[in-house]
Amino acid sequence: MSLEYAPLRLKKNEERRLRAGHLWVFSNEVDVAVTPLTALAPGQPVEIQDARGRALGTGYANPNSLICARLVSRDAKHPFDGSYIVHRLKVALSLRERLYGEPYYRLVHGEGDGLPGLVVDRFDDVYAVQITTAGMEARLDDVLAALDKVVRPRAVLLRNDGAVRKLEGLELYVRAALGEVPDEITVPEYGAQLRAPLAGGQKTGWYYDQRDNRAQLARYVQGARVLDVFSYIGGWGIQAVRAGADSAVCVDNSATALDYVERNARDNGVAERVGLMEGDAFEALRALREERERFDVVIVDPPAFIKRKKDFKSGVEGYRRINQMALQVLSRDGFLISCSCSHHLPREVLVQQMHGAARHVDRTLQVLAHGYQSADHPMNPAIPETEYLKVVFSRAVDA
Ligand code: SAH
Repeated sequence: MSLEYAPLRLKKNEERRLRAGHLWVFSNEVDVAVTPLTALAPGQPVEIQDARGRALGTGYANPNSLICARLVSRDAKHPFDGSYIVHRLKVALSLRERLYGEPYYRLVHGEGDGLPGLVVDRFDDVYAVQITTAGMEARLDDVLAALDKVVRPRAVLLRNDGAVRKLEGLELYVRAALGEVPDEITVPEYGAQLRAPLAGGQKTGWYYDQRDNRAQLARYVQGARVLDVFSYIGGWGIQAVRAGADSAVCVDNSATALDYVERNARDNGVAERVGLMEGDAFEALRALREERERFDVVIVDPPAFIKRKKDFKSGVEGYRRINQMALQVLSRDGFLISCSCSHHLPREVLVQQMHGAARHVDRTLQVLAHGYQSADHPMNPAIPETEYLKVVFSRAVDA
């Protein structure tokens, strides 16, 4: 079925960013005299045009959002509709099949896969779908039909409870769209089997984005005492022990997450080498320091401290504090693996904060390597925010 595309006219020169590969239109870029935003419904399919009326492509609008439209298809012959979603899904699937041997991965990563507003995580034949924009929500039936056509899911969970939906005026909900959604999933990762809650878990239930980074653990952790701060179900800590660490302590303020750490440690045969610490990470680090505990490797993988631009300053301060506290329990010449998933935080700023924190406690930081989100979360070089995960592998030597 073809859609009605309302015209959305840009002001002079405002098409340049889109032509350079970007997909977002901000409300101040629209020529509202020609195409008033107030005439558009949230989620309305649109044809985005330059100032002279030439089509740049099709996508969808939301007059109530600062990002008032997103470009989806640049191809005039194949505008944004159900068949276009099928096409992008196939393109996305072929990448993952190339990258990974097993059907466990992020199948669709929004803007990075040309489907703004849509995230799909795959756990074999169970899928967790996250929709973050009114335009994609309006195409929900097409998304489900496309999944059915391309991958034939056994079960689909709609994990539509992310706070960003509020910016688009969407309600928050979690529900099964197809089949019987299991309470838990078990994800294979480098020979480990890691269990996580699905509907009751965080985000889509699993953090595939750190998989490629955890592959780097072995070189840092041989014989080490490891501290995994913000551990969730123990991805870093358990993998560290399996990769050669002597022991790991996992810190999280969620009792459910730590129950899973315990079970995962047991199921993977490392229970006696994995310890748990429930509580606020800042408090836990303070307590560990006071008890003069030291760790050879500290991993800090917090939730986004900068969720909105206006939190930038306080968020940066948070990264500074958590890294400083991590350095204070790091043994001499120990490794600090520090992560940030805030898309508003540039990598250089994270490094600066780590470096400043190190100097403050009379250590010198050696930056050894950088990590990114795993390859099933493609980045769009025109949209810096799509490089959201920063991982800095470093060593802190005495000054
Ligand atoms: N490292 C994990 C992902 C971490 S997600 C992985 O690789 O899979 C962030 C985790 O931080 C969540 O499990 C959440 O429960 C926990 N968390 C959030 N705020 C916290 C706080 N103030 N103190 C301790 N844990 C916290």
